[in-house]
Amino acid sequence: MAKQLGLLFDVTMCVGCGACYEACKAQNELPKTNDEPLKDHLSSETYTVVEQYGDVYTRKMCMHCTDPTCVSVCPVGAFEKTALGPVLYDADKCIGCRYCMQACPHRIPRYEWSSMNPRVRKCSMCYERVKEGLPTACAEVCPTGATQFGELDELIAIAKKRIEDNPDTYYPHIYGLEEAGGTNVLVLSPVPFEQLGYTANLPNKPLPTYTMAALDKIPSVVGIGGVFLAGMFWLTKRKNEIAQEEQKTNGNNSHEK
Ligand code: SF4
Ligand code: SF4
Ligand code: SF4
Repeated sequence: MAKQLGLLFDVTMCVGCGACYEACKAQNELPKTNDEPLKDHLSSETYTVVEQYGDVYTRKMCMHCTDPTCVSVCPVGAFEKTALGPVLYDADKCIGCRYCMQACPHRIPRYEWSSMNPRVRKCSMCYERVKEGLPTACAEVCPTGATQFGELDELIAIAKKRIEDNPDTYYPHIYGLEEAGGTNVLVLSPVPFEQLGYTANLPNKPLPTYTMAALDKIPSVVGIGGVFLAGMFWLTKRKNEIAQEEQKTNGNNSHEK
């Protein structure tokens, strides 16, 4: 069986240069969205951000959960947890219901609201690169090693050793080791993670356990083929309308610091 791959992000080593942000944009051919990279936010055109909290910097991106909620809630299998670890999205299967966006415990997936043919967008852990043995674009350019790519087991061992060897430097927890069943992106920090905008108090159990219970309400529609598709079309259309109304009300900003 293939070894799981992952990323280790160490807040204590990050200098906030934004090279990872720029490399991600280049790798994914995403347009420039902000003159000041550190003031950008996750969007359909920005898959990772570097955020400043006081005198430290942290990154936000898809955590590539071990047992992802986005996979479990998607009624058409548009999300997939690959054997190597990255969680991928297939726009050809997506029907735009956006359950994934509502269910993600890390509030990551974004939607192409302004597109006529909208897709959900998020980091793919550079799947096309890592399956060929290359590091992710963000890890490759990081000048300090704050973003490190590798085999998940090795990254966990590195993270544990850093905390063990430097108890005064690190908050004694590896974010992602257990949260919602664990993730393939791990984070080390000098301060509690809620101070850096991470979702705190997540159960250690994978969230799909809960979301499957919610989805049990759907199958009465799923089995009816055309009726299901018509229903989903209506639901999607209605959700678009609601979201657009919300966007107008909220000033079209989804930054979630
Ligand atoms: S962080 Fe959200 S989008 Fe990424 S794998 Fe986990 S549930 Fe899916
Ligand atoms: S792993 Fe690739 S897609 Fe994900 S943030 Fe890094 S550069 Fe972007
Ligand atoms: S490239 Fe490395 S040091 Fe620069 S902002 Fe990204 S993680 Fe931090």
